[in-house]
Amino acid sequence: MAIKTAEAYVESLRKLNMEVYLFGKRVENPVDDPIIRPSLNSVMMTYELANDPQYADLMTTVSNLTGEKINRFTHLHQSEEDLIKKVKMQRLLGQKTAACFQRCVGMDAFNAVYSSTFETDQKYGTKYHENFIEFLKYVQREDLVVDGAMTDPKGDRGLSPSQQQDPDLYLRIVERREDGIVVRGAKTHQTGIVNSHEVLVMPTSAMKEEDMDYAVAFSVPTDTKGIKIIYGRQSCDTRKLEAGTLDRGNPKFGGHEALVVFDDVFVPNDRIFMCGEYDFSGMLVERFAGYHRQSYGGCKVGVGDVLIGAASLASEYNGAAKASHIKDKIIEMTHLNETLYACGIACSSQGHETAAGNYEIDMLLANVCKQNVTRFPYEIARLAEDIAGGLFVTLPSEEDLNSPEVGEYVEKYFKAKADVPTINRMKVLRLIENLTLGTAAVGYRTESMHGAGSPQAQRIMISRQSNLGMKKQLVKELLDIEE
Ligand code: SF4
Ligand code: FE
Repeated sequence: MAIKTAEAYVESLRKLNMEVYLFGKRVENPVDDPIIRPSLNSVMMTYELANDPQYADLMTTVSNLTGEKINRFTHLHQSEEDLIKKVKMQRLLGQKTAACFQRCVGMDAFNAVYSSTFETDQKYGTKYHENFIEFLKYVQREDLVVDGAMTDPKGDRGLSPSQQQDPDLYLRIVERREDGIVVRGAKTHQTGIVNSHEVLVMPTSAMKEEDMDYAVAFSVPTDTKGIKIIYGRQSCDTRKLEAGTLDRGNPKFGGHEALVVFDDVFVPNDRIFMCGEYDFSGMLVERFAGYHRQSYGGCKVGVGDVLIGAASLASEYNGAAKASHIKDKIIEMTHLNETLYACGIACSSQGHETAAGNYEIDMLLANVCKQNVTRFPYEIARLAEDIAGGLFVTLPSEEDLNSPEVGEYVEKYFKAKADVPTINRMKVLRLIENLTLGTAAVGYRTESMHGAGSPQAQRIMISRQSNLGMKKQLVKELLDIEE
């Protein structure tokens, strides 16, 4: 079975015995937890759409490893066209969920680990690429969700991994055994970990010889002994514990991040993809980051489509849609959103084949894409807030709307256009609140800043790839300058 149904996916998660903590307590049943569930619904959408013939071309493809039909989220990109379809798929999912659907980190890790292990093996004669191919065949066959885990806690940013007072602040190998290794440390901001079957760990930065024990990559099931998941809070998250769904803004979907602790976790030999080859850690980080920076030219654009739609509807509901400044603001939002998409498509269409045979994006353009993402969603959100009016942060609750004492006042005084029911207006305003300030603001705003690397990380990559020498030479040739 290469394409799972959404229901089969949920059932497969139920079988895992993950150690998840939320509000200081162990969560016995993460699948049905009201705080966690909306994020699971978003991942379910990656299965639902893959089973919908209408989206088959974007959501599914044929594996180069097994020849079987697979979900594109488990695919090794085989062409520029595959890279473009990836971005289109992510835009589609952003539109359908208005949230982070979490499954891209695994896909981006697959493609980065596949090509990096190939090159590591060429230099060192190791067997990491073979290990990884066997692992990925299993992922494709079972249609699994894999959390790509890169970011370490990092402690004192002025010190290297091995210089830290606490050596566990970067995940490291603490024991080398005949049958595998034991690792200790943590990964922060882990997107979708509770909805994942496996966690694929990679180093967080380029490493030097003295940091050899920190140059480690592997995958283990998320319920492996020693893995502890501490769920991250989101603004307004406890609204999900309330009876109604109106105040959640996005009634069904969400995303999540968590701190994942590796408390002496055993990794068997066949699941190791890097073990001390510190000179390849920079390559792996750059490639994973590059793919994920491409991803943002899809997912954030899809969520942006929803926010633009919400702003437009809000203006219609309050009778302001025809005002020229509103129309212009919607145009500006669209222009910014499509600029992000243009970068996602551009870095894909300019992709190239790696030595291992899968396709990689154009690194400069992928970094430009993500650098724009650190800015434009903020401006799009600012314009949405402008159009929405202050009411999206001062609205009374759903319970007030339903109250026998004051419901009629809420109904009466928050009505704008006579033919638009007040509740519809409230729904749209709550969605705008959710996307700009509530639970989804993690995925749409702050993640736009820091996800796939903070802005400075892209600026370093842009500077490295800017080819200034060639640009200066152009001038010299034009002006006949000889030095
Ligand atoms: Fe996918 Fe976007 Fe979430 Fe990353 S932030 S996992 S690219 S939806
Ligand atoms: Fe992300």
